[in-house]
Amino acid sequence: ISVLVMDVCDIEILDTTKTISDFINDKIKERHSVDSEVSFHVANLDDLHQKHIRWLRTLPRVKPFYAVKCNSTPAVIRMLSTLGTGFDCASKGEIELVLSLGVTPEKIIFAHTTKPQSHIKYASTRGISACHTRAKLVLRIAVDDSKSATRLSQKFGTKPSVVKKLLERCKELDLEVIGVSFHVGSGCTDSLAYRQAIEDARHVFDTAVLLGFQMRLLDIGGGFPGKEGFQIQFDEFSKVINEALDEFFPADSGVQVIAEPGRYYVDSAFTLAVNVFAKKVSQREQTSSEHVKMMMYYISDGVFGSLNCLIYDPAHTNVAPYLHRSGEKRYRSIIWGPTCDSLDRVTATYWMPEVQVGDWLLIDNMGAYTVCCSSDFNCFYKAHVYPVLSAQTWNMFNLSYVEFFSVLQYGCMHYPETINFKVTDNFM
Ligand code: PLP
Repeated sequence: ISVLVMDVCDIEILDTTKTISDFINDKIKERHSVDSEVSFHVANLDDLHQKHIRWLRTLPRVKPFYAVKCNSTPAVIRMLSTLGTGFDCASKGEIELVLSLGVTPEKIIFAHTTKPQSHIKYASTRGISACHTRAKLVLRIAVDDSKSATRLSQKFGTKPSVVKKLLERCKELDLEVIGVSFHVGSGCTDSLAYRQAIEDARHVFDTAVLLGFQMRLLDIGGGFPGKEGFQIQFDEFSKVINEALDEFFPADSGVQVIAEPGRYYVDSAFTLAVNVFAKKVSQREQTSSEHVKMMMYYISDGVFGSLNCLIYDPAHTNVAPYLHRSGEKRYRSIIWGPTCDSLDRVTATYWMPEVQVGDWLLIDNMGAYTVCCSSDFNCFYKAHVYPVLSAQTWNMFNLSYVEFFSVLQYGCMHYPETINFKVTDNFM
């Protein structure tokens, strides 16, 4: 049993009579009352819970290590830790963060392929077995990632033609190689990419076993979709992965299978609320006798803030802001972020009902690769994150996982002020 002590009260419990929408309304009212336009995220922790249940049901053989890089909001780490996932860290800083939130070293993998020496030393002093002299090594292979939005195998991974040579060199140096990892690329659109990569990994296992290595770990990386409506659904990926695992790494092979999902867990959990603080209306000639209005809006977040995903995340090429109240006729709307830079454009040709200065727009599916890359360029404040949990889920955790849980009061519920998680240790 591991006990996580939480020092900051940052999770709000939704009373059973309140919805996320009520919560957002209240936060908007709060903003108005203090004359603030600063954007904010609502992080629905229930969504992480649902995702985790879905993962356990559909990929029962694959242990998830959440990729911290995707969204390192403390409440997300805490929630996933309570649910029992492990953590994939890419740097000393990420390791420090998850350790500071009570995660124990055996639940951390230091899976970034190229690591600065000082980070490796730090990891080894914290009991995280990464590549130092006594470390167990996992060979990252390059796989076909041509159907993914972000391709990673151009930068990382060994090509099949050099696998044998590399393993022979490991033998000479007396290094212990125990497994294979790959990443089909983030925002993968082809489930067969996993099948091919798993088959490729099998060939590497066979080569390594012939050279005398005791191979026992397969890491199938990330790449899983995190929102409904994506081209391919998670269940389709899972089906292909389960079949490939049964064929190439059957359950009785003794090989442990893990994954590093990032986007999958957090994408749909975050909703961003942005304030419209300026507006320009222009008339565009449609025919010689008819003019249509075209709108330009200036909002309190943009590509230098939470919406940096429009620049940096090729899997997130557009957003669909909608009004927090219902609207009617739609107009072509160009939406700009708050900074002085003309690169800071959120939509180019987007059709939506007319909104007014002071209105708030919502953007869904804002959890993956958003807050982690946000800047305060021009000294515009970064969006605050409000993590929320429904009373129903809270009660469930209260029974099965958590002894004490401290939260800010919301609605009519009261909870103690210090947070102490008690997590069942059913993980590895
Ligand atoms: N693991 C590694 C090594 C990565 O580089 C990434 C993303 O870049 C991930 C996991 C997470 O990928 P995703 O968010 O697509 O699941």
